[in-house]
Amino acid sequence: MIKRMIVKIDEEKCTGCGKCVSPCAEGAIRIIDGKAKVVSEELCDGMGFCIGICPEGAISIEERQTVEFDAEKAAAQAPHKDASIQCFKCGSGDEDRYLLPMRHEMESLWVCTQCLPSLIHG
Ligand code: SF4
Ligand SMILES: [Zn+2]
Repeated sequence: MIKRMIVKIDEEKCTGCGKCVSPCAEGAIRIIDGKAKVVSEELCDGMGFCIGICPEGAISIEERQTVEFDAEKAAAQAPHKDASIQCFKCGSGDEDRYLLPMRHEMESLWVCTQCLPSLIHG
């Protein structure tokens, strides 16, 4: 066990909507009994990519004792494809382009890697 940054999910706030499952490229989050859970702590790199997508503000990052991040195992996880999400700018689906979660004007949205630069640079 080591002390490092890792995702924490507030079950009181979590509605089990499942929006945070796709943003976690490492497949560390699953919905279990209607609540999001970090199922394999060794798969969570603590980058907090999932934080921005949660509409309830249920996800945060904390420093605690946990297992070391296993980069090899995380990379071996099958990429999660979700047909229900699309880029809010161009409408591309998850199948066509790589989609990233982001916060934009107080909303949790998906944006494809092609539209992202125009959002950053205006
Ligand atoms: S996005 Fe937030 S509310 Fe939805 S399942 Fe994940 S933690 Fe729960
Ligand atoms: Zn796009």
